[in-house]
Amino acid sequence: MYAEKLQCVKCQATYELIDYYSCSVCGGILDVRYDYERISKKHTVDQIIPSPGMNIWRYRLLLPVSQEEYMTSLQEGGTPLVRSESLAKTIGARDLFIKDETRNPSGAFKDRPMSVGISQALQLKKAAVATASSGNGAASIAMYAAKAKLACYIFIPEATPIGKVAQSVACGAKVIKVKGDYSNSFRLAKQAASECSWMNLTSTFLNPYTVEGDKTVAYELFHQLGRRVPDWVIIPTGAGPLVYGIYKGFAELRGLGITSDVPRMVAVQAEGCKPIVSAYESNRSTVTGWEKVRTIASAIADPLRGYEQDGERVLQVIGESKGAAVAVSDEEVVRAVLLLAQEEGIFVEPAAAVSIAGLDKLIRAGTIQGAAQVVCLVTGHGLKDPTSSVKNTEVPVIGPDIAELRQVL
Ligand SMILES: *Cc1c(COP(=O)(O)O)cnc(C)c1O
Ligand SMILES: [Zn+2]
Repeated sequence: MYAEKLQCVKCQATYELIDYYSCSVCGGILDVRYDYERISKKHTVDQIIPSPGMNIWRYRLLLPVSQEEYMTSLQEGGTPLVRSESLAKTIGARDLFIKDETRNPSGAFKDRPMSVGISQALQLKKAAVATASSGNGAASIAMYAAKAKLACYIFIPEATPIGKVAQSVACGAKVIKVKGDYSNSFRLAKQAASECSWMNLTSTFLNPYTVEGDKTVAYELFHQLGRRVPDWVIIPTGAGPLVYGIYKGFAELRGLGITSDVPRMVAVQAEGCKPIVSAYESNRSTVTGWEKVRTIASAIADPLRGYEQDGERVLQVIGESKGAAVAVSDEEVVRAVLLLAQEEGIFVEPAAAVSIAGLDKLIRAGTIQGAAQVVCLVTGHGLKDPTSSVKNTEVPVIGPDIAELRQVL
């Protein structure tokens, strides 16, 4: 295995690859480090990053689990990259691709991080796993824990959409709703996991392994764009591991000498919960926890209260890649959901559409040029939360009668 250690991103202290969640010296975020020199000496590019397909473990040389017996897959990843013609024209983008993460087994990209987290839990001989989640991480951990035969404890906000709750319950997880917003679930899950010795797979930056699964999006994009790096990657953002993971994946390709550049990374949040965008807009490198969450984009409604440094990690990525951060209103989100559905035939949940709404805004602001090559991630399926964006599901009901039909057409 080429994963060597965990390293604090602030003070550089190093740790063994076991269940640590933060630096014991300074409290900083931990990141998995690899021996890239040995990887590139011993393997060809095709071995390191083979072409995409379902199952992210094809990228095992750059993942933190070594033994095949622990690699738990439900055929995640290998999602389509769709060239947009119609939607692109509507918003004035000339080279737009949609990375359709709704096509993962649970219907959201969280299967990538959870596949790695569950596999690492097996490697560390854990009997139980836990997570705090706004819903998609919950559905995902429940599926992978079922596959791996691990006990699973889930903490979700009271207002979590029913589709995600049902997915989690169906897979046999113990699901607990916690009053208040996501940060409350985060805090309780952390306390409970530590008290009960459950491995905590909360996919903020708390668990250092799960973000490694997010990297695989970058490897796939590189291939799907004809072994090239796009100009911009636009990402719906909660705590930000997806932004960081994709950036890390591209930075690894550059470090290995496979590419010479990284894309400019854009984090998109909802107006009603935008701790990262708020800091970006006022040129601060520190993030303040958000107080009043108000948005239909529940999957990215992470106030970051108590773990503000997660947002600061995202600001660093934006800075290093010369990217941007932008927030969109719920009305803009609904419009983007309907645009994606009606122009491209892709139905996503509200949070997943913010990448499109954000791109529209950044093109109109002149930040992104129409000719730039842009990838928008759409992160979660529409059936997980259908009625937050499609308010009117009233359709005519008639008898099997052609005269009645003529009246409603
Ligand atoms: C979790 C989630 C995100 C945000 O991911 P982070 O890595 O927490 O920033 C975006 N979209 C959907 C649908 C999600 O479930
Ligand atoms: Zn440290």
